[in-house]
Amino acid sequence: MSEQEKKSKTPLLDELEKGKWPSFVSDLKQLSKKKPSVGQLLDQMEQSYETRVNYWTGTVLNLDGYGGGVIARYSDLGKKLPEVAQFHTIRVIPPSGWHYATDTLRELCDISEKYSAGILQLHGMTGDILMLGSDNKTTFEAGEELMEKGWDIGGSGGALRTLACCVGPARCETSCYDTLETTKRLTDNFISFLHRPELPYKFKFKLSGCPNDCANSIQRSDMPIIGTWRDEIQINKEEVKKFIAEHGEDYVVDNVITRCPTKCITLKKGEMAVDNPNCVRCMQCINVMHKALAPGKDKGVTILLGGKRTLKIGDTMGSVLVPFMKLETEEDMEKLFGLVERIWEFWGENGLEHERVGEFIERVGLATFLDGVGLEPNPQMIKHPRTNPYIKFEEYTAPKMAGEPKGAPNVTDKENEPKESAS
Ligand code: SF4
Repeated sequence: MSEQEKKSKTPLLDELEKGKWPSFVSDLKQLSKKKPSVGQLLDQMEQSYETRVNYWTGTVLNLDGYGGGVIARYSDLGKKLPEVAQFHTIRVIPPSGWHYATDTLRELCDISEKYSAGILQLHGMTGDILMLGSDNKTTFEAGEELMEKGWDIGGSGGALRTLACCVGPARCETSCYDTLETTKRLTDNFISFLHRPELPYKFKFKLSGCPNDCANSIQRSDMPIIGTWRDEIQINKEEVKKFIAEHGEDYVVDNVITRCPTKCITLKKGEMAVDNPNCVRCMQCINVMHKALAPGKDKGVTILLGGKRTLKIGDTMGSVLVPFMKLETEEDMEKLFGLVERIWEFWGENGLEHERVGEFIERVGLATFLDGVGLEPNPQMIKHPRTNPYIKFEEYTAPKMAGEPKGAPNVTDKENEPKESAS
């Protein structure tokens, strides 16, 4: 051990500075030169690493007019380390898709340095901007200044949580709907549910523009809204030829044809074809040949429900609630708002305290839940509809809808639903 290491007050934390990756410990040490509270934060962390004890106590601290958004933390070592006796985190709603102008980031940094420890987390697990290290007084002052400058406070507790979405049509060619606009509209429409906890427990939306699900919505939100299409994958024949010329046919067979989970792509004499009714929109082929293949033209969203981390039951992923709906017009948006309201009403009236909506469905059963929110059961809601007795298949004839694209969908909206009935 070097002389310098022998003298270090934080030998355990110093270990985290080794290796080739940037270290938050180095950053905090740098910041501690300006902010004494950050030095004491490092001292407390070192002690926690040594004793394996968490010295933070959590409680509630609300800004005027808000029922959440501040994660109050008091240190049990407050007498020894007075600078971190109160070390609260303020959640701030970020712009949709995390698009910031430089000026906006500077503004946030200035507020953070003025009222808190100068530590900004972009972005926490919730998707919020986290401003760490304010005390009982400066939390209120920071809140006031944030609001004066047009920012708003995020959600916490049994409330709608701050929404998060992928970068969407702003930069991604596979996005099937406007994730940024939808995030803003949902936030604005349900803002009072975000600021005042009225739900049995937390409720998270995450929005992804295509089935690649870059917002990790299936695992990390109660209601994932994922872009999809219900017509045929677009194939650009010229680009297919160019791709094959560049990479060789074997590469296409190994990385596209054989990797299609439903084996619905064929390549014959340099011509690519997709058996669209059997495509499950997994994006594998489009991701590999992104110039030659593209999502269809009839785009919309699939809405899922019930993803969350371990609580009363183990980790769950969202499962399909609405296989397909358009999200383009004001009327479409109103339909989405209406669905959310019906879910919250039914869950709010019948859910137990601290019961996530996925756990609620698990407890009451999907049939009861669908009945409660006014949706018809549908084969796309279950994983293996042909072998699962949940849906009783009567003779199935594909619905004939005016203007419905040929070769269409194994996704559908309510009006286009096949006529199955629940067993
Ligand atoms: Fe196959 Fe997936 Fe491509 Fe559909 S999106 S054709 S399922 S690889």
